[in-house]
Amino acid sequence: MSHYVDFNHALVDYILKAYDYIIAGAGAAGLSLAYRLASSSLKDSSVLLLDRDAKDSNDRTWCFWAAESGPFEHIVFKKWPALKFSEERGSYGGSLGSLEYKMIRGQDFYREVRQKLKAFTNFEFRQERIQGIEDTASGAVVRTDQEAYFAPVVFNSCLFPESVEKAVPPHFLWQHFAGWRIQTEEPMFKTDEGLLMDFRTPQYGSARFFYVLPLSEREALVEYTIFSSEKLQPGYYQQALATYLQQQWQLRPEAYRIAEHEAGAIPMTDQRMPARYGRHTINIGTMAGAVKPTTGYAFKNIQRQADQLIQQMEQGLPLNAQLKAPQRFRFYDRLLLNILQHFGEEGKTVFCRLFRYNRMSAILSFLEERTHLLQEVRIFATLPIITFLRAVGRVYLMPVVRKLWPESRASDWMPPRKAPLPLKENQKLL
Ligand SMILES: Cc1cc2nc3c(=O)[nH]c(=O)nc-3n(C[C@H](O)[C@H](O)[C@H](O)COP(=O)(O)OP(=O)(O)OC[C@H]3O[C@@H](n4cnc5c(N)ncnc54)[C@H](O)[C@@H]3O)c2cc1C
Repeated sequence: MSHYVDFNHALVDYILKAYDYIIAGAGAAGLSLAYRLASSSLKDSSVLLLDRDAKDSNDRTWCFWAAESGPFEHIVFKKWPALKFSEERGSYGGSLGSLEYKMIRGQDFYREVRQKLKAFTNFEFRQERIQGIEDTASGAVVRTDQEAYFAPVVFNSCLFPESVEKAVPPHFLWQHFAGWRIQTEEPMFKTDEGLLMDFRTPQYGSARFFYVLPLSEREALVEYTIFSSEKLQPGYYQQALATYLQQQWQLRPEAYRIAEHEAGAIPMTDQRMPARYGRHTINIGTMAGAVKPTTGYAFKNIQRQADQLIQQMEQGLPLNAQLKAPQRFRFYDRLLLNILQHFGEEGKTVFCRLFRYNRMSAILSFLEERTHLLQEVRIFATLPIITFLRAVGRVYLMPVVRKLWPESRASDWMPPRKAPLPLKENQKLL
């Protein structure tokens, strides 16, 4: 919880260990910011990085698309110049033009940042669990399970702002997934093409698909992803993965070895995240709304946030990590979230039509919010328009109807959130 504590600054400095900056949460956002700080004119500042984890395992892989090289280009593990989309009616996609789909492994990213910061004695990393961040007159105190630290400016990527926890988000879903890095005996995969989405699987009331990213002819990352309000039991994903590999890739369990497991969940919500956690605490990363609500991609936005903050710090401007994007993208996100949350099965129709009738590079620009209105009109013309108009009705008209006629049965139009299918023994998944 963030609340105001009127400490005497000199006393705070005397009692607590003080730094110029504290980075609370050393994940993608915290480390990206620290990496930039060490290359900026502020590189001599004293910086404390706090995280409950050691950040030395491959806890996730980040994929994103870009035409240009970013600061972490040298640790990109694999790139694909082409992407494919599959459904029962066929496969679409192909070359990304000037774009490339890139993958960075968590362990490489953590190692790279750590390696760079090693040269700076003024950057300190402590593995401690943060319990709270409290405002003072001149900065903020970060309390951990071991100590308390002070800095005039704190960057938070680990504590959820209390105001957001209390607010009921208009839409909230999880993009939850589990996957395997598999190795096959026979060459199976085209190394220059990733399978971004494979919808050849039953939907059971919520949009779900597989993706396959080949690392070599005999190795690939295969993931099962679902958009729904609740996560599933671990065994469900494993069973789905095995069934998919057998049915769509003719890979029986004895034909591959599982070299690595990955699992995770990314929030998909139109809940607006506040720019600050407290008066002197700036939110960054997921806590500052870096995650695109309808795709779960955040890595590139996190890099843009870090660049923006360093610029503001160097120029002495007020600090704000939030990125500006045209409001109409929030409108599109809200409609799709509404469809996915209340009529999950229709998500498949939306994605299939999107990829069937549009170029892959145009879709990626749209998902990255880099298209113009006319391009967006062209894309929407290929989508099931009635599905979207119904969502407009549910999101924007129904609240008005309910307000004007509270006794009306308007809420009957909105079915309850569907629970995902529980795992049953021998359940047929494909
Ligand atoms: C498994 C997974 C795969 C993803 N893949 C992609 C992808 O391919 N492409 C993409 O663009 N996005 C992806 N994302 C989304 C997004 O890029 C990541 O979630 C990204 O790591 C978010 O960065 P962050 O700094 O906001 O959060 P994190 O990276 O999660 O960092 C937050 C840090 O805070 C620490 N922390 C939390 N609570 C405390 C506490 N009380 N005390 C101390 N430390 C604490 C955590 O240990 C963590 O290190 C993925 C997310 C997940 C979960």
